Amino acid sequence: MLQPSVIAIDGPAGAGKSTLGALLASHLGYLYFDTGVMYRALALVALQARLDLHDEAEMAKLAYEVQIEVVAPTTDDGRQYTVLVNGEDVTWAIRSPEVERNVSLVARYPQVRREMVHQQQQIGRRGNTVMVGRDIGTIVMPDADLKIFLEASLQERARRRAVERDDDPDQTLMAQIQHDLARRDQLDDHVLKPADDAVILQTDGLSPDDELAWILDYLERDHNG
Ligand code: C5P
Repeated sequence: MLQPSVIAIDGPAGAGKSTLGALLASHLGYLYFDTGVMYRALALVALQARLDLHDEAEMAKLAYEVQIEVVAPTTDDGRQYTVLVNGEDVTWAIRSPEVERNVSLVARYPQVRREMVHQQQQIGRRGNTVMVGRDIGTIVMPDADLKIFLEASLQERARRRAVERDDDPDQTLMAQIQHDLARRDQLDDHVLKPADDAVILQTDGLSPDDELAWILDYLERDHNG
């Protein structure tokens, strides 16, 4: 099997990108880089500093100034990596509902994206990396050797997210999560399209191990001609 050096995994929120990305990276011995953490970190800093998230110039300035680092886990608490903002550990803080509600707003600004994409490219170009996001195959790493676009129905994505939060989620929680995901899909619509040469993987009914097996099989057969 010819191993791709950069693998892009894109798709909507809750499609299973992070789980699959981490699994694939660990299988190949590659760096796993979840680009969404950068937008989340930016939103967190803006919220903490009580900045106006509707002010594009202010958000762009912040994107240039703030130092975001993603490093190997510094604590054994189930995290896949540690996210540092200006040296402070924000790994769990960037997962808060408040960040979740605001991140897509900040991520829509072209000037913000330009800076984030630039930083992501510097990491991706080192190679042997699985990069996860929305625009990796189209904008960040258009030359990636393998591009995967994950899809899953809104219901399935909501179910997965709900089970992550609660072993036995009730209808109210499911409906709330479904509503939030639909809103984020809408806000992320501007970046949510597969590259022309991406392989589309529909994941309803598939486990992460099934998805990994599918990709390894694809690499073995189709990708190498
Ligand atoms: O993937 P995750 O849900 O953590 O991403 C959070 C948000 O960051 C997305 O909803 C999207 O608005 C933004 N994002 C983006 N481009 C990426 C990764 C994330 O616009 N490459």
